[in-house]
Amino acid sequence: MINGENRITRPLRWGMVGGGRTGQVGYKHRTGALRDKTYDLVAGAFDINAERGKDFGVNLGVDSDRCYPDYQTMFAEESNLDDGIEVVSIATPNGTHYEITMAALNAGLHVICEKPLVFTTKEAVEIKQLAEEKGLIVGVTYGFSGNVMLLQMRAMIEQGKIGDIHLVDLQYTHGYAATVDGDKKNAAQKWRVDPKIAGPSFVLGDLSTHTYYMSQLIMPEMKIKKLLCDRQSFVGSRYPLEDNAYVLMHYENGAVGRMWTSAVDAGCMDGQRIRIVGSKASLEWWDSKPNELRYEVQGEPIQTLVRGTEYLDELTSEYERLGTLHQEGLSDAWANIYLRIAVAIDAKNRGDEATLDKLIYPDIDAGIAGVQWIENCVRSADNGSVWVEYETEESVHA
Ligand code: NAD
Repeated sequence: MINGENRITRPLRWGMVGGGRTGQVGYKHRTGALRDKTYDLVAGAFDINAERGKDFGVNLGVDSDRCYPDYQTMFAEESNLDDGIEVVSIATPNGTHYEITMAALNAGLHVICEKPLVFTTKEAVEIKQLAEEKGLIVGVTYGFSGNVMLLQMRAMIEQGKIGDIHLVDLQYTHGYAATVDGDKKNAAQKWRVDPKIAGPSFVLGDLSTHTYYMSQLIMPEMKIKKLLCDRQSFVGSRYPLEDNAYVLMHYENGAVGRMWTSAVDAGCMDGQRIRIVGSKASLEWWDSKPNELRYEVQGEPIQTLVRGTEYLDELTSEYERLGTLHQEGLSDAWANIYLRIAVAIDAKNRGDEATLDKLIYPDIDAGIAGVQWIENCVRSADNGSVWVEYETEESVHA
């Protein structure tokens, strides 16, 4: 159980790129990172607008000399300090992730980057190679994946509690972009439908990479063999990017699956769901009820397993925070992700490969896998929504 005691030897000196006053996701990073005394926020290039970024950083309590006009200046200046940053989070629009991550690694910094990591597998692999060369960690903030009940799903599947996996039913939808209004008025929505900044997809990258990663966290042995993706933009000006997509999957073990991802699911306030159906039982989790897991055994009454209880697998107890009867949510999930990445960085710094081997966290391979998921979906959709063999870096070079 997490109780506030130190999990690493000392807090990591942490900087942020982006996540400024107007940014949507920045506070989630700070909520996650500052929870367990594993990071001290000591520097930042928080905003594309340097003046606003400095004012914001000072208001957060960062020394004004260490609120920089841009990330290049931050990396250069901080490397001259004895107590300069050692890890940086990147919470900027997608199109900047590659150059900022490469610059950070070249400056000797561990990186925590937003999803989707980059636009292409080639870029993602370059990042992995550079990180390996430099002995640095790259983590990816699939924030929802820190929800403890996902580890319970992983444990139950591993223990055969649902039998052989037959069906994988994934969904991440909302209705916040049901009309064109946001594309005009909301800066964060505007860039999400611009391929130069968002990359080759809108909802496939923005939403479904989360759910895809969680499915892999829950079922690490399940590999997609082929998929068919049908994507469309109901708001026509978003073309060629999609605001809705359906993906059918065939897995190597014979299981089948589907992903529905959408930003035009009008009225939807409850749209992320993972249902895994096995030969004898099913598990179902909703991110709107993260403390609960439905366990449905064929022929028996449906059970709701509740977070924090003693009947859960011990895998969950390491990241249990509040104890039974008390609800946890998204900020706890983010704190778990930031904590695990801190443990990874600390272990990497100490050369502790044993800890790294058993740590479950969204690492560079998870970042690469998210990029590959998008690439395979787009390749299928743009060839007329046809079945395509699922390509990964390994399968292409096999
Ligand atoms: P946003 O447009 O709301 O905010 C972007 C922030 O980055 C702003 O503060 C902006 O001033 C700053 N910025 C832009 N370019 C910069 C640069 N070159 N240097 C310094 N600062 C810069 O975007 P957002 O919705 O917060 O999304 C940012 C990233 O986070 C995206 O990659 C997005 O996919 C991801 N995201 C992830 C989650 C999640 O749950 N993990 C949630 C939302 C967004």
